[in-house]
Amino acid sequence: MSAENKLKIKDKIAQEKKHWVRLTRVCNNNCLFCLDKDSQNGTVTPFSQIVKDLKKGYQEGASRAILSGGDPTLHPRLLEIIKKAKMIGYQHIQLITNGRMLAYENFTRGLKQAGLDEITLSLHSHLRKPFEEMTQVKGSYLQSMRGLQNALNYRFIVSIDIVINKINLGTLKDTLKFFIKFGVTEFDLLHPIPFGNAWRNKDKIFYSVAKAKKYLDKAFELSKNRDLFIWTNRLPAVFLEGHEELIQHPIKLKDEIKNREKGLKNYLKIGQPLFCFGGRCSYCFLEEFCQDLIELKNKGKLFSKLPPRCLVAKNRTVQTKPKTFWLAKNFNLDKFTDFYIKHRYFVKSLRCRRCQFYNQCDGAQIDEIRAKGFGILKQRPLKNLLACHCERPKGARQTRV
Ligand code: SF4
Ligand code: SF4
Repeated sequence: MSAENKLKIKDKIAQEKKHWVRLTRVCNNNCLFCLDKDSQNGTVTPFSQIVKDLKKGYQEGASRAILSGGDPTLHPRLLEIIKKAKMIGYQHIQLITNGRMLAYENFTRGLKQAGLDEITLSLHSHLRKPFEEMTQVKGSYLQSMRGLQNALNYRFIVSIDIVINKINLGTLKDTLKFFIKFGVTEFDLLHPIPFGNAWRNKDKIFYSVAKAKKYLDKAFELSKNRDLFIWTNRLPAVFLEGHEELIQHPIKLKDEIKNREKGLKNYLKIGQPLFCFGGRCSYCFLEEFCQDLIELKNKGKLFSKLPPRCLVAKNRTVQTKPKTFWLAKNFNLDKFTDFYIKHRYFVKSLRCRRCQFYNQCDGAQIDEIRAKGFGILKQRPLKNLLACHCERPKGARQTRV
């Protein structure tokens, strides 16, 4: 499969309408970077509520139902839920799990018989020690590996989620190679976000782009394998120079923002900041977006960003009049997100640190970088000044270059 075709397929899948349904608020692992831990209270969602939710998603046009948790395998009526989702009309049912329950062969067979199509397993290393250091549960490694084997034996579509963090970063490429040998061809590499356990364990989890890049590059090299699908999730674009085809489709931002719709609208309406606003913003992939919302509230309008000097100079992109987004009474978050993606979602290369325009420049629009690569940005060397290559201090913004 050509790289172009692969990108087209990935974009199509990214834009497919999916409906996420939370089945439980309980999990049998306690991962160091679990962003959900604070919402877990040991309960499961009532069956009737799940059915209502599934119907709503289907009526809104979703063809894929994604069953998640906590861990959804701990819901006592999981098989009925899968059957019901199929009856409602979903063409594709996907389960997101740590895979431990799949170690029981009868359980996995039951999922197949109920009509489940795809299983995404969260397996953050191929090595027992770091695996259990991350899950914080002894015995979880063997169970999850057995679960993976059973999922493959029962011929589910199988994909693997890996949360990249300080513990598994150095062996990421080996982990991918190990699972590829097992027969897995699809991976989602997730960047941690500062919520739940991940925020409490931030010093063990978060990594700087300067230190991570060499390991990530090695792992991303594998995506050249034409039969392999590697996705990234929330990973800032700066980590992906040289592998721009792996930059997450910007439309995915919409799901993330929609999940925070109430809080964001509340902020605009009554000025109450999101509960998470503060120290953790510098670790969060939504930092630029939230900063823009603050600016919109303060100024009542927001202009499109200017193209970078290195592109304007070559007449590649010339923008005459900036676009403006006005804060109106009937504020529409979806339209604002569209404006943000098109006119404000700009990214820089690591090389930009050595450019004399660094401090006045926002970089280039994300779609331009996805299409043409960071190579189009040509830094103007610093004159009579030393470029700063030092690491940012602890707690400083991780995503900005
Ligand atoms: S950037 Fe926004 S979503 Fe992220 S932690 Fe800050 S306020 Fe919360
Ligand atoms: S190289 Fe980077 S900092 Fe310099 S003008 Fe281009 S985008 Fe801006």
